[in-house]
Formats: sequence, C-alpha cells, structure tokens
Amino acid sequence: MKPTPEELQQIVDEVYAAARKESGGEVASYIPELGKADANHFGISICDLDGGLMHAGDTDHPFTIQSISKVITYACALETCDREAIDQRVDIEPTGEDFDSIIKLDRHQRPFNPMVNAGAIAITDLLLSRFGKNALGATLEFYARLLGRADLEIDEKVFNSEVSTGKKNLATANLLKHFSLLDNEVDDVIELYCRHCSVLVTAVDLARLGANLARAGGHGLFSRPDTCRHVLSVMMTCGMYNDAGQWALDVGYPAKSGISGGMTASVPGRMGVGVFSPPVNELGSSVRGWAANRLISSKLGLHLFTCKE
Ligand code: GLN
Repeated sequence: MKPTPEELQQIVDEVYAAARKESGGEVASYIPELGKADANHFGISICDLDGGLMHAGDTDHPFTIQSISKVITYACALETCDREAIDQRVDIEPTGEDFDSIIKLDRHQRPFNPMVNAGAIAITDLLLSRFGKNALGATLEFYARLLGRADLEIDEKVFNSEVSTGKKNLATANLLKHFSLLDNEVDDVIELYCRHCSVLVTAVDLARLGANLARAGGHGLFSRPDTCRHVLSVMMTCGMYNDAGQWALDVGYPAKSGISGGMTASVPGRMGVGVFSPPVNELGSSVRGWAANRLISSKLGLHLFTCKE
C-alpha cells in the first residue's frame, strides 16, 4: 500500500536518525574549494510524484552539483542532439575504473559511459556544437526545468578552483580530441563542463530531479519518449561508478552521486530521493547517502527487482 505523506515523513525522520550514525568517508579536497565543506551537513529529501516534499536535516543548504550534472547533461543531449551522434561518441557500459580514469580510454578510444568524466566531457562537446555561444544558457535552462527551479546559480569559487587545478580532466579532453571525439576547443569544452559541475543545488532540488525522472516523461518535461528510459538505465548500471553492482543489490533503483556529497535517486513510478552529506567513500559517493537510500529502499520495499505478490 502507498504510504501517506505523514507516514513517509516519519520514515524520512527515522532514516535520518539512523544514517546520521554513519561516520565513515572523507570530504573530497582534490578540488581545493570543495575541501572547505562542513562534514556535519546532512539532509534527506523525498519528492513524491505529486510534488509533495518530505524532508529532514539540512535540505536547504546549497552545494555544487558536481557529477550529478552528468545526468542532466546527458538528458539534455538526448533531447536536443542527434541520437546517432551520441551513440557514436559514448558507450553505455560500466568502466570498472575511477570516475576520472583515463587508463581504459586510451585503449578503448571512446568513453565507456556518460556518467564518468570522459563521457560527460564528450557529451558536453556535443551540446557546445548544438548551441554554440548560447550553450551555457540553453543547458542551464534545461537544468532549471529538471531541478524544478528557475534561479540557478554557479558557484564561481568552486568553478575557478576546478578549472585551475583540474589537470586530469584536461588530459581526458586532450585524449578525446586526439581520438577526434571533440569538435570544439579543449578549453571551451572544459569550461562548460566545469560550469555544469558548479551549479548550486540543494537536497530538495535533487529529490525533484529524481521525481521528474521517475515520472518517465510525465508533465511534459521531455519531448522524446525514451529519454528517461535511457537516462535511468545508464544511472542504474553506471551511476554509482564501481559501486553500481553493490548498489543494485542493496538499494535496487537508479541513482547518481557527486563528489561534493550529493546524491539523486529515482524510483520509477514512485518518487525521487535527494541526499546531501559531504563525506564520500573511496569511489566518490556519499557514505550517508548510501546508508539513507539502503534504509529507504528496505523500509518502503522499493527494490525494483523484488517480486511483489
Ligand atoms: N567536477 C568533478 C570532476 O570533474 C566531478 C566529479 C564527481 O562528482 N565525481 O572531477
């Protein structure tokens, strides 16, 4: 039976209290500005498919979206670019490597999927070609639509911090350029990619994003019927990097994490979940975000592969 909003709120409160006890992980600092985050911030938000919100903790605290941007960038490309061009540029298979690894990229000569840096940089290039000088404006309009808010801002400090230190992303983009997988200049693609990563969001925004994907195209957000299916499938297999298999087993619905501690999850036909907690595990996913979703899934019976009588 579908829980009432009151029952859902009670579950969010219980999950918040339990997941708060998880003390593992570390705040990422390879982008220096991110290292300043307060490890104690923690918020959980659930958005049901009617837009109803249940939340606990620091759900209004802004942080940069980081890799969760890859979900929106990919969706935007699926909606606005030539599908064949996307398929030619980026595969949809897990990498078995870190999110910023270039080891296999050199041998494979193509990004493995749009949820890792190489894939997202290649997708960003397609968007830059599609929208030209207006690329930031056009893509941010799409971000605003999926996040359910009009007043998006970029954290310029985080953006500058990443652009000035992100040599590995530069190496990745150069490798993509070498394989003729970027049409635009490396610096221009990296700038747009880093701006997308520096968009400020809250746990509530990430819950809304999950809910918008969970509606599978309802409410007129998507113009192509299979955009959500594409995005959710790739989130399921690649969204949690090398934790994707464990996540599929323990939690059982699609999700995407970001290095600043955000996490969005989408339970098709049911709800979106947004979590923020900066300490991340060695693969770059929020430790409390993991714990919270595991509990939400089991308490509400949301695992997609559990047979329901
Ligand atoms: N902007 C970050 C980077 O490119 C995003 C990584 C992440 O969130 N996992 O390294």
